[in-house]
Amino acid sequence: MSQLPINSLLRQWTGPLTEDLVRAPGSFGLGQVPTRLKPDTTTTMVCGFCSTGCGLNVHLKDGQAVNLTADPEYPVNLGMACPKGWEALTPLAAPDRATAPLLRNAATGTLEPVSWVRAMNEFVTRFKGIQERHGKHSIAYLSTGQICTEEMAFVGSLFKFGMGGLHADSNTRQCMATAHVAYKQSFGFDAPPYTYADFEESDVLVFVGANPCIAHPIMWQRVLRNPHRPEIIVLDPRRTETAMNATLHLSLAPKSDLTLLYGLAHALIARGAVKREFVEDHTKGFEAFAQFVAEFTPERACEAAKLPREDFDRCVELIATGKRVSFWWTMGVNQGHEATRTAQAIINLALMTGNIGRPGTGANSITGQCNAMGSRLFANATSLLGGRDFTKAEDRQTVAQALGIPTETIPAQNSWAYDQIVDGIESGAIKGLWIIATNSSHSWIHQGRFNDLVKKLDFLVVQDLYHTTDTAQRAHLILPAAGWGEKEGTLINSERRFGLVKKVLRAPGEALSDFAIFQLIAAAWGCGDMFREWRSPEAAFQILKRLSAGQPCDITGIRDYRHIDQEGGIQWPWAESTQAAEGSPGPDHRERRLFTDGRFYTPDGRAKFLFDQPRPVAEPTDAAFPFTLLTGRGTSAQWHTNTRTAKSEILRKLYPADCYVEIHPDDARRLDIAPHSQVTVSSRRASLTATAFVTPTVQPGQVFIPMHYDAVNRLTFGSFDPHSRQPSYKHCAVKISPA
Ligand code: SF4
Repeated sequence: MSQLPINSLLRQWTGPLTEDLVRAPGSFGLGQVPTRLKPDTTTTMVCGFCSTGCGLNVHLKDGQAVNLTADPEYPVNLGMACPKGWEALTPLAAPDRATAPLLRNAATGTLEPVSWVRAMNEFVTRFKGIQERHGKHSIAYLSTGQICTEEMAFVGSLFKFGMGGLHADSNTRQCMATAHVAYKQSFGFDAPPYTYADFEESDVLVFVGANPCIAHPIMWQRVLRNPHRPEIIVLDPRRTETAMNATLHLSLAPKSDLTLLYGLAHALIARGAVKREFVEDHTKGFEAFAQFVAEFTPERACEAAKLPREDFDRCVELIATGKRVSFWWTMGVNQGHEATRTAQAIINLALMTGNIGRPGTGANSITGQCNAMGSRLFANATSLLGGRDFTKAEDRQTVAQALGIPTETIPAQNSWAYDQIVDGIESGAIKGLWIIATNSSHSWIHQGRFNDLVKKLDFLVVQDLYHTTDTAQRAHLILPAAGWGEKEGTLINSERRFGLVKKVLRAPGEALSDFAIFQLIAAAWGCGDMFREWRSPEAAFQILKRLSAGQPCDITGIRDYRHIDQEGGIQWPWAESTQAAEGSPGPDHRERRLFTDGRFYTPDGRAKFLFDQPRPVAEPTDAAFPFTLLTGRGTSAQWHTNTRTAKSEILRKLYPADCYVEIHPDDARRLDIAPHSQVTVSSRRASLTATAFVTPTVQPGQVFIPMHYDAVNRLTFGSFDPHSRQPSYKHCAVKISPA
């Protein structure tokens, strides 16, 4: 490896990639103390768990973070934080951190520590070998919504422009792909229109498949601050914590949401609640939509959703008479078999009632991960950098110019989506896989199939904070990564706000920031020259600015990290021309929503009404598997596969240690299942054992298991929304019996 040439990745690095170089201060990050900050200070940065993007004040002593508190000045959380935020530093000190690269010994099968130089040698030799034997596109990567925007853009550019790869996706496919596609098709760009102030300004809030009490607790706190005594309508099969706090809960049958939403549109048209002027001036396709929903009568909607007519009518009444109605959705919609059209049915309601572009309104998707929005705009996986399109020559040219690379370097075709990459492993088209900061072996739908398939790979690399994740344990090579708080960069939250992550701790051992790992790989691969401008996350941020120029997500007016820091985060868009005309965002522009002028990002400036006939679910219940399995978030103390949250003793006390299943009392009685007894839940794919929580929060015929327990995705069925290719985690058929 010491002979591998590197093309002066950065100007000062002109020699071979050696251990000394890897360790040099100011080089890739090893051995550095926290930079930029005074040793004993308090600094504000955004939380690295969910998409709310709360500001946390981190307190340093001798250059290392020792504690944190919620920032009372930050415009997002106003001094509040959920349990995960308060415990954000704890997972970084876990004993199972990956502290050195680990390579699987072919003879013994064990993972053994190696130097970074050896790790890079393996990475390059084995991936290049696969490409030589099976073609350039036989390697793929799966990334995450948990790393910084600059890192996402770096890995996407490195893989596609430097390494010659094509197929790349991220775990945002599992949470936000639907919202991305729905907005893009309806508004012309992936543009969540709202700002969190809308939670406080609505007089009617409609939550569809969203449980912010648990999933986004600080957003829920913003709802509680609403001074207008708002009506809160929840559409959810479960009596979730949010549904319990609603003024109206429509406990609809699972996956009847699309029919119900069309029924609501029908009823609103029938009672003359359409804002004709807005529809005529700013939208396209309403007449066809009105004709389409004519057959979705209230009777049909109520029958499909198994709802009392008076609840349906009350919902119509509240939406029709509300002055400022906001519609909010999240995974209950996004993770469905017809998710994109369901999201667009919500968008259609907002458009036809003129509830968009004004305070307290909007068709608002709540994002999942802390940087899902960064992934949607800048990951260069399914969309070209800056929310552009790989298949458009003009877009490829613009990006090539901004990056100073030949246009031919940019692939003219789209990547496969996550599920297609998995299928590619099965067919033998994908032989090498690089997984970055995600735990696919736990989280991917029908996980048994995924875990069988990864055994077919010639080379599996996992880049993560921990060497113990379900996925890392299957790797040939583990690259140890620094976590949130051990590196710098930006995250973009649900309301499009750029926030800063700062380096307030040293990563343990030889762990490096993801950014530094990508620099190393570029150097080792031999494409360092292409990335010579990517000297640091902040230098990369300047590249992102160029890439955003002229796009709806234009951020050319954000000067630098300091500017973001001073402003308490800055929402996109913030163009250079806006900065020149208005000065910095300041208090007047701290909370900005989109479409205030009624112009959308489509070529004619009009939002589109999009719709389709509802389709049956992929795996309906039957006599053998008579229950519908619902999955979702369990508590606000858990995050996804518990990789980080399980490291905190405090957080562990806030949720049941073992897998549990919620079952309705009528079903429990019929099946002779006692509260807190052990039960077996089986699907056609596998079984698991769980503790029975007998509760009316689920309807008869349904069971609910939180997604955080590793066994749940043994049961789920791999079906996908045809537009977004997002997995349908919210419906499959199971049976349940005493264990
Ligand atoms: S709500 Fe989300 S961003 Fe805020 S503290 Fe909790 S996990 Fe962090």
